[in-house]
This record gives sequence, structure tokens and C-alpha cells, in this order.
Amino acid sequence: MNDDFALRTLAADALKTIARDEQIKSHISNSEELYPLLYRAARRYITGETKEDAVFQAVRLNMRGYATSLEYIGENVSDERECTESAKEFLRLIGMYGTAGRSSTISLDLSHIGMTVDEELAYRHLEELIREAAIYGMTIMISAEESFKASRIIGIYKRAASSYPNVGITLQAHLHRAESDMEEIKHFPGRIRIVKGAFRESEADGVPRSEHLKAKYLRLAETAIATGRPVSIATHDETIHREARERGLIALPNVEVEMLYGIRPDLLKGLKDDGYRTRIYLPYGKEWHLYFFHRLSEYPPNLYRAIADMAMPSGSEEMY
Ligand code: FAD
Repeated sequence: MNDDFALRTLAADALKTIARDEQIKSHISNSEELYPLLYRAARRYITGETKEDAVFQAVRLNMRGYATSLEYIGENVSDERECTESAKEFLRLIGMYGTAGRSSTISLDLSHIGMTVDEELAYRHLEELIREAAIYGMTIMISAEESFKASRIIGIYKRAASSYPNVGITLQAHLHRAESDMEEIKHFPGRIRIVKGAFRESEADGVPRSEHLKAKYLRLAETAIATGRPVSIATHDETIHREARERGLIALPNVEVEMLYGIRPDLLKGLKDDGYRTRIYLPYGKEWHLYFFHRLSEYPPNLYRAIADMAMPSGSEEMY
């Protein structure tokens, strides 16, 4: 292993640990110095603190030909009242974007709207959001969380998808269970989003970034696409995009490439300019700690960018 690679791996592991550290998160959130400083760097990956920021950005990007997916960021909320407040915020978001005459997918973590407290609470909130989204022709996309939550998430998705067509699910290719999850969900309706997976998992649960993971990702994408359901190839990995292009996958009418706001905008713009369907994932809110540190850990050179952004903040909107 060369020194650069070892250092990068060490930095990535440390950043993933920081991402999950509640004490550091609370310290940053409550600090009048640290929060604004880090927020300047986080702004590269989030649209702002309010839904107005997100909707403004989404409409701009719609006008440039991108579809969007909006998320009010948050996860692991253990207070029932807070979960209900989060669900209400999602309802207001759907209404605001919907009445602007736009249609987006709305992405959420089930642990943001109740799953940590009680699965039934999460289901009730999810159902309310699905119904509201249906009024505007929107889909609710359920995000993937750590592997220990996967069975509960799939269970809630299957229950909702049995009654509503406008709910979709995210599968993490890096998990060993991804193929069996795909078998379980493939006969239900709604969009399937395939991601590699952001959380650090043990060898017993997942595979690391590798050629093996890319092959696994492409196999899952092919299975999802063959169902005829809408599918998001949600990765910034250009080798996967290239392979998916060569196999004729991303030109299919049920397929789109979806990427996170602020990450490889050049790549997504190139795909859009070549005529492929593209979607940008636009998060907003004040709970950006985990999201931001995940983005740094996935590509440690982003640390240099973060330092530069703290001194000279620059958003990502002009890059699309
Ligand atoms: P990687 O192998 O990590 O990266 C491939 C290449 O992409 C890198 O070499 C680099 O060039 C570029 N790249 C990747 N990340 C960055 C970055 N941060 N900055 C700059 N360049 C980068 N994960 C979940 O666990 N649950 C979810 O619900 C979820 N939803 C997602 C939704 C969308 C639309 C997307 C795009 C991702 C989502 N993710 C989610 C994150 C995903 O699991 C990966 O962690 C993330 O996409 C990075 O992996 P990658 O596929 O880009 O491949």
C-alpha cells in the first residue's frame, strides 16, 4: 500500500467516524464560531437552511433541464414531537414545490419521521406524505440507512407500496443483502434508486469500494431496469456510467442518472447535454453534519476544497 493511499483511507475512516459522532455534531451545532464556519463549506453540498433555498435552486435547475429530488435533511430523531414537526416540514415542502407548478421526487430517511421511536409512527407520517405528494404527481423516495435498519425500512416500503404507486426505495449495492432485497421489492411499484452505500459496514455486512462492487452495482441496476420500473443510477462513478452507456442501459426510457448536488456537476451536465435523463439531489436544512462529513469522507481531497470554501465560500449552482 503506498503512503498516499494509506493516508487517504485513514482520512476517509476518520471522517466517517466524525460524521456519526453525536457529541461532535452537538458541539458544532451549538457553537457560534464553528457552525457558521463549517456551514460555508457545507454550502457546496446543500442548497441552504430553508425550503425556500431548496425550492429556489430546484426551479433554477429544472429550467436548465434537470429533474430534482428534494430532501429536508435529518435522521435518527428519537423525539416523537420532533418527528411530527419533520413530517409537517415535508408536507410544507411538497405544497410549496407543487404549487410552484413543479414536480420533484421527495427523499427522506424513515428515521427522520418516526422509525427510531416507533415503526407505526413512521408509517403514519409516510402515508400522509405519499398522499400529499400524489396530489402534485410527486413520488416519495425512501433513503437507505445503516444495514441494521434495512429490514425495517424494506418492510415499511413494502407495506406502503402495496397501497400506493408513488413511493420508491433506495438499495445499497455494497450490502451483501442487496440482491435478496431486490428480489423482495422488485414486484412492487415505484422508483428504485441504486446507490453504492455511504455508511461504513463490517465485512460481514458489506463489500468495500472495488471492481467487485462495480460489477455488483451493474448487475443490480440491470435487474431493476428489467422490471420496467423507473430506475435511478445514483452514482458519481464515471466507469459505471460508461459501462451503463455501453450496455445501452442509461438511454432506456425508464432510466435516469441521479447525482448529489455539488458533486461532479461537470459529469452530470455532460450526460444531460448528451440527451440522457438526469436528476440532482438537493438537500437543505440545519442538520447537515452527517451529510457533509459523508461527502468529505467519500473523497478526502474535498477537505482542501472545504478549507478553501471556508475562506472564500462558493456555491455549486453556477456549475450546472
Ligand atoms: P465512489 O466509488 O464513492 O466514487 C466514485 C468517484 O466519484 C470517485 O472516485 C470520485 O471521483 C467521485 N466522487 C464520489 N463521491 C465524491 C465526493 N463526495 N466528492 C467528489 N467526488 C466524489 N447513500 C446511502 O447510504 N443512502 C442513501 O439513501 C443514499 N442516497 C443517495 C442518493 C443519490 C442521488 C446519490 C447520488 C447518492 C446517495 N447515497 C446514499 C450516497 C451513496 O451511497 C455513495 O456514498 C455516494 O454516491 C458516493 O459513492 P459513488 O457511487 O459516487 O462511488
